[in-house]
Amino acid sequence: MKILVCGAGVAGLSATLYLKRAGHEVTTLETGPKLRTAGGPVDVRGDALDFVKELGLWDEMKAHEVHMTDDMYFIDKDGKKAASFPHNAIKDSPDDLEIERVALIPILAREAGIETFRFGTTIESLDDRGNHVHVKLTDGTEDDYDLVIGTDGVHSLTRKLAFGRPEADFAHFLGVYVGFAPIGPTGPEGTPSVNFNTPGKLIGCVQSRDCEYAVMMFRSPQLSYDYRDPAAIRDIIRNTYTDDLWRTQEMVERSVNNDGLWMDEATQIKMDSWRKGRVFLVGDSAHCATPLSGRGVSIAISGARFLTMALNEFPNDIDAAYARYEELQRPYVDHAQATVYEGIGIVLPESYEEIDARNEMVRQMMSEA
Ligand SMILES: Cc1cc2nc3c(=O)[nH]c(=O)nc-3n(C[C@H](O)[C@H](O)[C@H](O)COP(=O)(O)OP(=O)(O)OC[C@H]3O[C@@H](n4cnc5c(N)ncnc54)[C@H](O)[C@@H]3O)c2cc1C
Repeated sequence: MKILVCGAGVAGLSATLYLKRAGHEVTTLETGPKLRTAGGPVDVRGDALDFVKELGLWDEMKAHEVHMTDDMYFIDKDGKKAASFPHNAIKDSPDDLEIERVALIPILAREAGIETFRFGTTIESLDDRGNHVHVKLTDGTEDDYDLVIGTDGVHSLTRKLAFGRPEADFAHFLGVYVGFAPIGPTGPEGTPSVNFNTPGKLIGCVQSRDCEYAVMMFRSPQLSYDYRDPAAIRDIIRNTYTDDLWRTQEMVERSVNNDGLWMDEATQIKMDSWRKGRVFLVGDSAHCATPLSGRGVSIAISGARFLTMALNEFPNDIDAAYARYEELQRPYVDHAQATVYEGIGIVLPESYEEIDARNEMVRQMMSEA
């Protein structure tokens, strides 16, 4: 099949890689001028670990493994340990792999074959003509495709164009914003990853392979801003973290002055169907579970795999292929989306009493009381 993939994040790179390996002719669009490697470490979990092994990428990914949450704890305003981070409670299996986006994205891109990518380009219009989709691109070119796959993330343009409905129709905002920024080299050997809470807010300093990251999570009503505008994101972070406790101001300044800063709202996308005609959605565009699930990468990979399997199984029946894709993928999505809620209470207590209660609960859980 001749396939257009729109968006070169984990879902788009995985889809490109699987589909090309299956013999399809794939063109991949990325709106940015290059691959977007900003952000922090992400998790590969559950069955996605087997899928990565099957792709032959396990050893390389394992070599880039980081252990951000292994030695992590909650601290008080003096920087003293208050309770461990209950990392076992959030893992799917002991094999769960943490890897920085800056390591993961280039591995997937190399395997996907970047020569067929078109950067700085997106879809201008989609015209589904039944047996193909006629697509106009922002670079002025147009072409026909057997299938268009929207992998352009939670704020998907492909979804908007194909379904003719705004993001708000599918979005379930969780009342939380999440951000990461690389802020400097890792601390000396043995430096733990630490998280500091004030009511409804968390700011942390987590150790990765070669660098440390600021992690920021906060409860908030939905904010009106352009999520693509780094200056707007910097303002939100500065206006949110105004207190002078612990190292908050230092962490904020280092974050907002780093180009690797990423922040977005924690919004789940819930759709009855990830398909409109010959346009299919894969990854966050279809079913964002939010970074709070720790499963966005895993379900992006599984979605790309299942879609490719389904197209192989039903090469001449797009309806049957879609049905198989959804049948295989939906249970992973339901699990990922359902698991975020308990985590929010643990990382973002809403008062000082709740922070104390959380610490006590975690100490009991980890037998530290
Ligand atoms: C810059 C960035 C940083 C992130 N950092 C973290 C993190 O630190 N922790 C975490 O848990 N999760 C993070 N995520 C989210 C996480 O990577 C995803 O949940 C998961 O990988 C599933 O990804 P996806 O490919 O479906 O969507 P995304 O990762 O959002 O990728 C979508 C891709 O499509 C591109 N795109 C968007 N619109 C268009 C368009 N109209 N046309 C063409 N291309 C388009 C984007 O530039 C991006 O490359 C980040 C995402 C991004 C984009």
